[in-house]
Amino acid sequence: MAGMTTTTTTTTTAPRSGAAAARKKRMIGLGIESTAHTFSCAIMEKTGYDRGRILSDVRHIYRPDDGEGIHPREASRHHVEYAPEVLAQCLAESKTSVADIDLISYAAGPGLGPCLRVGAVVARSLASFHGIPIYPVNHAIGHIELGKLLTGAKNPLVLLVSGGHTMLLAFLDRQWRVFGETLDITLGQLLDQFGRALGLASPCGRIIEEMAQQQSNDRQPGATPAGRGNGTGESYGGGVDGVDDGSSGGKSTKRTVRHRQQQQLVPPRYVPLPYTVKGNDVSFSGLLSAAKSAAKSDKYSACFSLQETAFAMIGEAVERALSFTGKRELMVVGGVAANKRLSAMLSEVCRRHSCRFFVVPLKYAGDCGSQICWTGLLESNVKSGAAMSDTFVTQSWRLDTVRVEY
Ligand code: AMP
Ligand code: MG
Repeated sequence: MAGMTTTTTTTTTAPRSGAAAARKKRMIGLGIESTAHTFSCAIMEKTGYDRGRILSDVRHIYRPDDGEGIHPREASRHHVEYAPEVLAQCLAESKTSVADIDLISYAAGPGLGPCLRVGAVVARSLASFHGIPIYPVNHAIGHIELGKLLTGAKNPLVLLVSGGHTMLLAFLDRQWRVFGETLDITLGQLLDQFGRALGLASPCGRIIEEMAQQQSNDRQPGATPAGRGNGTGESYGGGVDGVDDGSSGGKSTKRTVRHRQQQQLVPPRYVPLPYTVKGNDVSFSGLLSAAKSAAKSDKYSACFSLQETAFAMIGEAVERALSFTGKRELMVVGGVAANKRLSAMLSEVCRRHSCRFFVVPLKYAGDCGSQICWTGLLESNVKSGAAMSDTFVTQSWRLDTVRVEY
């Protein structure tokens, strides 16, 4: 079962809403996620209106060859191959059987058509054979609802940054409203496309984060911003004068070599890259091209500069949206929420605005069955499930078109 990641018995509670007393019934849900590279099933328990806990969350992730992007047909074949194993393990870890399940939810979009259809077929088959209510769920709403459950955020400005989304959102009158988004590629695509140009395995965000912090003795000459590097702009490529006078033998020579190597290790340098914020929207395509060029001379500095530039753009948009909406909470969800440098920059923004900062736990930042399961369970508070004829998938289902009735 190589590559399978599992999670069991994570207990949390969401804050109770005014309507919390409305539903007391204990419900067990199965959620199926298959929008892109991840096939995942999760079992959750809901008690009351909006209290829940994760009983199991099992994932298997499609990994393209190094330097290659996600191929929808290959990813869907991966999902077909692993679906039975993931589902069986999910049931076993939660110690439930299909007979215990009160509802099944699946990610109905947005996502890649061939991948979405695998999850939908599994959900429909189980639901129709066993007579279980079925709930199509918007994947992006799933990121937000799971984030609220796990962080306890009540009424946040939401930053959704993932492979499929880069959006700033606030909830008003039963719908999530967009306060800024990307005009071209998403933040996740920026990182993944840049990483693939370096020959990295996709998804690349985590390794770019590591490379952005990596000390190297392979730095090229160039601009050094204030506060970083040696501040002189001189070459890091040359040697450092040794302290060995040659009189103390081999031991001292070794120490000198080590000393030279240590002296030459320097952190990545900031290379100026295109910074594009239009109104409160961002654009990453120019940044991607320039970062790829910069990587030809120093890939570590290019990783560092890419992160600093892209995250500063996001920070500017967040800051403006916080000022405009007057929100007292910011919550970051989606796969890129795992990035520590992004969190550090955004928590600084929150400090300036006396705003509470929430970030979804690392384990649940990326795509997972729990986000779909929990949203289906919330929907069950107000809906009795979809007709089988309405259980289709929609590749480009925007979250700001969804009415949130629960
Ligand atoms: P999702 O679509 O929500 O599963 O998120 C996947 C995206 O998150 C991919 O683009 C990854 O490269 C990105 N990602 C995962 N971990 C990190 C990280 N530590 N830093 C930045 N991006 C990340
Ligand atoms: Mg996602």
